[in-house]
Amino acid sequence: MNILVSNDDGIHASGLHALAASLADIGHVTVAAPDRERSAAGHAITMRDPLRAVQVSFDITGVRAYAVEGTPADCIKLGIDVLMDDKPDVVFSGINRGANLGTDVIYSGTVSAAIEGAIFNIPAVAMSVTSYEYLDYSAAAVLAADICRTLIEHDMPSNILLNVNIPPMPIEEIKGIRITHMGVKRYKNNYEQRYDPRGRPYYWLTGELIEEANDETSDIIAIEQGYVSITPIHYDLTKYDMIKELKRWQIGEWPLK
Ligand code: MN
Repeated sequence: MNILVSNDDGIHASGLHALAASLADIGHVTVAAPDRERSAAGHAITMRDPLRAVQVSFDITGVRAYAVEGTPADCIKLGIDVLMDDKPDVVFSGINRGANLGTDVIYSGTVSAAIEGAIFNIPAVAMSVTSYEYLDYSAAAVLAADICRTLIEHDMPSNILLNVNIPPMPIEEIKGIRITHMGVKRYKNNYEQRYDPRGRPYYWLTGELIEEANDETSDIIAIEQGYVSITPIHYDLTKYDMIKELKRWQIGEWPLK
């Protein structure tokens, strides 16, 4: 089995190394990861600059690794089209340092790498540990290998990705796994104004989370309660049940009056 691994924390991130090492027991792993941190890069791609990829040595036997001067989505596109000899059977992204829950997923480079895999019709998984301080990725790495085996066994639809969040605790303390939906995260006081040494104002994103009434079946609550959250995600953002209603509104009746 061929596995393509990427992330948004960059080629040196310990979560990436833990993920590659765990998956190297299952298949041939190619790593294509940004050469620096690209967290919150979303689904951006490089269009106006040269996209360089440099092979780097990775301490894991059998793993080929490239540092890409681009975004997570670039890494997956380049990985599949150029760097890998054969198309991957599965794409993994992570293990991210920090949560990718609720609407934060929209901004996530980690999840975007997995979405790019799904657009290529390859089953994909995004993995995140929901803490910036807890740097033990062993539980997440064990889970990644388990998920990889499970989705091959069950022939997961290739245009879907799984967004997996793991609470920051040893594996024996995790309560279990919940299959969830995306919750909502909203922030207030998003920007703090400061001044540079020349007296010009600048803004720094600081936002405090607003308490939202997320329900028990959401990814956010699963993590709060000490469970692993797995959300199946599709890149098709269409709200299908709105199509019929919207047609009824007769927007843009032609010719416009
Ligand atoms: Mn990140």
